[in-house]
Amino acid sequence: MSRVDVTGSISNNGLFTSYSLESKDQGLDPSCNLREFTETIHSLFPHVTRKKIKQQDNSVATIYQGINIKPLDPLTLKPGCPLDSSKIMGLLPSDCRADTLENGTVCCMLETDFLSNGSVVSKTLNFNCDKTFSVAIANNIIDLKPLGISNTFQETKESISTIFKCVEKIRLCTGVRITQNVVCTRFHVLEKLDERSTGISSRQIRSVSCLRVVKFNAVSQTCVTCQRMTKKLKTSDNKENTKGSETKDDGQLSLISKADIKKLLPNAPDILLEMLVSQFKNAGVHPKGRRWSKEVINSCLQKYTRSQAVYKQIRNCQRLVLPSPLFLLTYKNKVKHNVGFHHEIFR
Ligand SMILES: [Zn+2]
Repeated sequence: MSRVDVTGSISNNGLFTSYSLESKDQGLDPSCNLREFTETIHSLFPHVTRKKIKQQDNSVATIYQGINIKPLDPLTLKPGCPLDSSKIMGLLPSDCRADTLENGTVCCMLETDFLSNGSVVSKTLNFNCDKTFSVAIANNIIDLKPLGISNTFQETKESISTIFKCVEKIRLCTGVRITQNVVCTRFHVLEKLDERSTGISSRQIRSVSCLRVVKFNAVSQTCVTCQRMTKKLKTSDNKENTKGSETKDDGQLSLISKADIKKLLPNAPDILLEMLVSQFKNAGVHPKGRRWSKEVINSCLQKYTRSQAVYKQIRNCQRLVLPSPLFLLTYKNKVKHNVGFHHEIFR
């Protein structure tokens, strides 16, 4: 209880919780319950008063006045002894090109598979004396946090080799291939990109504020910044984490028409074909994105008015995708009901 502040106030449970947590933290067993703890507090700090207060949500809480716990000191890492750059040099992989800078930073160059305008794109890996490392690609420092990489290292061969493996796996943003749809502005840079392993050469466009990297799990080879900066990429199928094929499938399914199904089921009645088409269009689609034809809505409305329970049961069993009852009622209520007889009924 070294952090006791005798001027504040704290809730009954808060004091006990912090006491038991800190006891456990120090390897001690807090072998007392809340009642015993309260009694001890009163004998240790006689000036402490107990008070019941009404909280904002009308519940009553017990607080102690005249005692509080001072916040923990901010955690500071002790500055370690400066690293010996020659020691890091000794831990590096043998095939690595490395240099020591004036301030003791060890600088390694990792070549990538890409040539940008004829020169090799390299990743620069800097091991600093304060046991942190940084990665730069073409003089742009890479923010390692979004990639899920911690920027500290230990003076062991294992730690250094793990960092090398991670940095090798960092994927480069290759920009957007120039096509007719891509608009080039002054916020873009042009680049001739060659992939050495495949020999593919292409003209790419890249945003001036390009992040130079894409996330490890990204499907696209283009970073989000480059995607947003090019006009062509405003369609949904170019997002970093969506697969092009998925959206294509959706498009193909929605193109299935009654005639296509008729070829497969020549004897099927028209209403069944209509129902099957609606299933193709709406299965797996978000409820707000489903669209229904007039025939399907009419048929469902008939079933729903006949028996709401059965309709809901058929809908909930998930063998068929059907419009929601609320949608059917909204549809029905759109029809204006006038006073009088409907002549169609009496025919
Ligand atoms: Zn980019």
